[in-house]
Amino acid sequence: MPTLAAIVPRPLGTEDPAVLAKRLSERLSAAAASKDLFERVAAARAAIEGPLVFTTSFGLEDQTIGHAILSQNLAIDLVTLDTGRLFGETHNVWAATEQRYGRRIAAIVPERSALEALIDAQGANGFRASVAARQSCCHVRKVEPLNRALAGAAGWVTGLRADQSQHRAAVAFAERDGARGLIKINPLFDWTRERAVDFAKQHNVPVNTLHAHGFLSIGCAPCTRAVAPGEPERAGRWWWEDEGKNECGLHANPLHLAARARIIEEQKS
Ligand code: SF4
Repeated sequence: MPTLAAIVPRPLGTEDPAVLAKRLSERLSAAAASKDLFERVAAARAAIEGPLVFTTSFGLEDQTIGHAILSQNLAIDLVTLDTGRLFGETHNVWAATEQRYGRRIAAIVPERSALEALIDAQGANGFRASVAARQSCCHVRKVEPLNRALAGAAGWVTGLRADQSQHRAAVAFAERDGARGLIKINPLFDWTRERAVDFAKQHNVPVNTLHAHGFLSIGCAPCTRAVAPGEPERAGRWWWEDEGKNECGLHANPLHLAARARIIEEQKS
């Protein structure tokens, strides 16, 4: 797998990092279709120079990716955003994962003064008052900690799947995240949930026990509910808000938003 520096042999100092990153993303994406999960994460690690960070919420998808990274002992940093509102079951699978693979998974917690100010302003469950209040909570507990987790990273590995929602329909294996100045790697971009379930069973991967009780997508406890058979996977996230707003801002990619807008327009016509 060519490295970022090897792809375009121009004189040092003349490369446009954005162009290089875009070109590398396209090459990685083109090669991904024929690779299994183990090969995909290994290829990303080999191709991207600099720190690679995998942010895990310990959900099904992240556990499968974590298995591929940890079982190959790849030099990819594993971090989780410990919002302070996670389920106890999530902490349990976090601990089980560390025990299974013998590797610590770093916690990034909200900035103390910002969290105290948030709770002072909106109370313990003030995020239910409005979309803006919820986004403020997500910003303090998730988005700002994510920014710290990714500071200095050259690549970001996520568990996004294209078929999770319309919002994610345009997800590719590798894409340039211009706002963050890194390459985003989505090893499960073309997987179904069933494929991830099968993988976890086949490799005896620890999974969150809440999945067996209808919790398909698991985030903070007060903002996650089980879904009924046939409901969309992410219907249990911020369910009291309008359909289509069930994202917390971690994956706000303008390309995805534009693609989603196109899909919605096509459905209207
Ligand atoms: S998911 Fe809910 S509790 Fe968690 S950060 Fe967002 S609003 Fe706050």
